[in-house]
Amino acid sequence: SKRTMSTTMKAIVVEEYGGLDKLLYKDFAKPTAEKDTVVVKNHSIGINMIDTYHRSGLYPLPLPFIMGRDAAGEIVEVGEGVTNFKVGDRVVHMGGSGYAEFSQTKAVMAVKIPDEITYDVATAAALQGLTALTLVRDSYAVKKDDYILVHAAAGGVGLILCQLGKHLGKRAKEIKLGAHVIGTASTDAKCELAKANGAEFTINSSTEDIAKRVSEITGGLGVHASLDGVGKSTFDSSMASIRRLGTMVSFGNASGPVPPINISVLAQKNIKLMRPTLYNYLATPEEAKRWFDELFALIKEGALKFHIHKVYDLKDAQQAQSDLQARLTTGKLLLRP
Ligand code: NDP
Repeated sequence: SKRTMSTTMKAIVVEEYGGLDKLLYKDFAKPTAEKDTVVVKNHSIGINMIDTYHRSGLYPLPLPFIMGRDAAGEIVEVGEGVTNFKVGDRVVHMGGSGYAEFSQTKAVMAVKIPDEITYDVATAAALQGLTALTLVRDSYAVKKDDYILVHAAAGGVGLILCQLGKHLGKRAKEIKLGAHVIGTASTDAKCELAKANGAEFTINSSTEDIAKRVSEITGGLGVHASLDGVGKSTFDSSMASIRRLGTMVSFGNASGPVPPINISVLAQKNIKLMRPTLYNYLATPEEAKRWFDELFALIKEGALKFHIHKVYDLKDAQQAQSDLQARLTTGKLLLRP
């Protein structure tokens, strides 16, 4: 029969691990829906630091693969066995292969977007928003009046952590957050942005001694928890900034992975060490629904705002990842297919 629809699409494909030049913009077979999956025509594609780990091989995926974690768009095909979605539904998905015109995703890794939330906001909210939410709720359950250290506070996850820590508005009273967020960032402009998003104090990590400033701010006691997505370069300053009985949450590797540690260092202050990954909070449909419901509710009541650094063309994914790794960005980076 005559084919009227194209069977290929544009995508960013990785065929071998390495640097930015391993991001190839090319034609790839357009996915079709298989059992328990849906195919989504993407309108907004998210960039995350984890994409650079997939590209470099720090977190290896089977080669070749299409880059990307989160994207949002409309369902164009529904596979056998999928009962909760239909063609035309607006969804955000986190099953991978996001840097493409179309993504096939397991239905359990997709969720409907409420009408009042745009594709760009849904994408900005997905991986980074859920990460921030699970960090403050579970990895370290932030309490009112806690002092919390947030590294890379002007980044994608960081700006959301600043807001969750402080600026939750109506809902904040209900859930009694209202913590004192101390945000670190590498420039004064980034520090200002972190403040505008709810950081009560900021530390310029290029010019100031983090642990010394934290000590001054907290009257010598230190923070209740450090939420550290920077990794290698900040582990020691996080540990030095945490108070007795405090919690170290190490959740990322922006500066490289944290080297193995001798657990006896925890005994110096009875520190609890936590190393979470978002996907373990989304392991069952019930858990995923709970976190998405809470996130969407916060957005709908205006308690969370997303700062979009820039929307790049899909073909410019190299430039986008380059800017992210060069620490030139704030908030969320998006790709437009
Ligand atoms: P960001 O937007 O925060 O970008 C990374 C930021 O880290 C930079 O802007 C920079 O801020 C800071 N940074 C410090 N040192 C370096 C360095 N050597 N190279 C690059 N950046 C550096 O990224 P994301 O919001 O996407 O992610 C933040 C962290 O959270 C990442 O480590 C990521 O892997 C982690 N993460 C973990 C998840 C999990 O499930 N565990 C889920 C999602 C994210 P500055 O210039 O101010 O220092």
